[in-house]
This record gives sequence, C-alpha cells and structure tokens, in this order.
Amino acid sequence: MANTHELKVAVQAEIDRRGDELIQVARTILDNPEPGFREHKTSKYVAGKLQEFGIPFEDGIAITGLKGMLDTGKPGPTVGVMGELDSLKVLGHPHADPETAAAHACGHHCQIAMMLGVGIGLKASGALDQLSGRVALIAVPAEEYIEIEFRDDLRREGKIEFLGGKPEFIRLGALDDVDLAMMTHTSSNPEEGRIAFGGTNNGIVAKRIQFLGRASHAGGAPHAGINALNAAMTALSAIHAQRETYRDQDTVRIHPIITQGGIAVSSVPADVRMETYVRAKSVDAFLSASDKVDRALRAGAMSVGGSVKITTLPGYLPIQSDESMLELYSTNAAALVGEDDQPKDRAGIGRNKERNLSLDSEANDGVVA
Ligand SMILES: [Zn+2]
Repeated sequence: MANTHELKVAVQAEIDRRGDELIQVARTILDNPEPGFREHKTSKYVAGKLQEFGIPFEDGIAITGLKGMLDTGKPGPTVGVMGELDSLKVLGHPHADPETAAAHACGHHCQIAMMLGVGIGLKASGALDQLSGRVALIAVPAEEYIEIEFRDDLRREGKIEFLGGKPEFIRLGALDDVDLAMMTHTSSNPEEGRIAFGGTNNGIVAKRIQFLGRASHAGGAPHAGINALNAAMTALSAIHAQRETYRDQDTVRIHPIITQGGIAVSSVPADVRMETYVRAKSVDAFLSASDKVDRALRAGAMSVGGSVKITTLPGYLPIQSDESMLELYSTNAAALVGEDDQPKDRAGIGRNKERNLSLDSEANDGVVA
C-alpha cells in the first residue's frame, strides 16, 4: 500500500512520460479552434483520446460536451476535473482559423490536455486501485460567451436553454453526481508565477439587441426612412455617457459590438443588430448597469422614432472558490513548482483574490474572458 506521496509521484511520472504526447494534444486543439457549441472536431478528437486511454465516457452533452469517468469501485466522493473545449474569435491572432477567425486566445487547448493528463496519469499509474470514489473528466463546451445571436437561436430552437456550457451541464443534471470540481486555466501574466490560484471574475448578463426602423432610398427619399443605424449610434453614445456613473470598485465593463449595420448602402438601414455584455463584480452592480444600458438603447430608438428589441440573457455569476480546496491546490502547486513560483504574497488567499480581481479587470479589457 503506497502512501499519498508515493501515489502522487507515480501519477506525475506517468504524466511526464507522456509529456510530448499531451503537448501534441494541446497543439492539435490549438490548430483547430472552434467557438462554443460548434466544437464538433474538438469533441470528436477528445472522444478519440478518451477511447485510446480506455476511459469510459458520455458525449453529446450540451451539444458537444463530454464526461469521462474513472471509477475506483469503492465508495467516496466524485471529483470533477474540467477542461473547456471552445475558442474565442480574434482577427489577426497568429493561430486564428483564416475562415472563421476562431482562435484559442484564452488557452483552452491547454486545459483539455491537462484534463486528459490527469485522466491518463491516474489510470496508467494504477493509483486508482488505492483510492476511493471517482474522478470525472468534464470537457465543457462554450465557456466564452460570444456569438450571442447564434446561441440565442439555438435556445429558441430548444437545443440549449442557457448560452454557456457549464450552466447547460447543470441544467441537464450532468454535474449532479460531482461533489467538487476544479480547473486550471492558463494565464499570460508573469506576475502570477507558474501556478496561481483563487481569484474571481466579473459576473455578466448578455444582450441581443435589434433596432428596427424603416427602409427607404437613402439618396432619393431619406425623409421617408427611419434610420436604425442612427438609433444604434445614439444608443452607443448614451452608453458611453453613463460610464462616469459607475464606481471603480464595481469594475463595470460594457463593450457592445454592431453585428449588422445595414444591408445595402443605397437604402436607409432598417434592421441593425448589436450584442453586448454588461459585466460587474457583484450581481447588484451588473443588474443596475443592465437597466441603465436598456435605458440608453431605448433612448437611441426613441431619438429616430424607431423601436428596439432587447433580449437580456443570463451569463455567469462571479466565481467563488472553496477556501479549503484552494488551500489543497496551493499546497500541491507549491510541491510542483516551489513556493517562489506562486504569487509572492501567499499569506492570505483573500489578498490574492483582490489582486486577481484587479488583474481580471485588465483582462476584461483585452481578449481574455
Ligand atoms: Zn478562458
């Protein structure tokens, strides 16, 4: 009977032995980026790997999600290890798909490789024989909350109810048997050391917005039209005018895009579409900001005599990590990379949270979700 330390060493040795192969898994996913609920190739590839590793799994959960299971056969908790399947869309990213602009700018390709590494490390080392409970390998779709219109259409077709993969997993009961779960995300911030932990994220709601006007000849009869693009631009200005009303500590972030500005330059735009997030540190803060944004959108429509349809969709709540799991994570991380390669001030995870919060608000200004 090996002790805990010996078991960890055996698992790590097995992961190291397959290091090149696991890095290749991440590279393959990096080279085949697919945004949320479209990760068909990625899902198939992960299914192939689980099969190859002899790990039983279910697929097709929330369209493209998978759930593998390592069962010791002895009673105990089920520990979930998650990886996210989806990419972002970033024009000009060095690894972007030239056709779709999909790109793994958030490092999710590494998450899947790490998740599979946990699975094969535990299985191939024989460690499971000496453990109890189960380890679920959970590959979730659609963490990035993008392509709101596409996903809202999936919702209207009844294929999903929520626009994110994890809420869908919860709705489908796919996490009902999971007692605790963890995930490791990559970071591009060297200040976080080689492994950081804890922290939180802004919560969000998302909006699908459609300004409706009346088409007419833009040169010959603009007086007969109602310009929905002008409504959208007035709304954007009003959203900007509200920014001074947000408190710094609420880290409110609102960043709309126009996804359809018009259909032909000769006709007054009559159907203009936008999407936006409204993010903030607390539920109260993002709900109050969401009301202000709705006001700005209506003001835009009112200014030209058009109308606006606003669909506000639930996104994510701010993350709250479990303190005792964070302690376990940090102790094990220190054993791997050394105390010095973690965030400098480990004295208080609370402090660390604050730090990560401010880092996160920077991240929210960039491409990292
Ligand atoms: Zn991410």
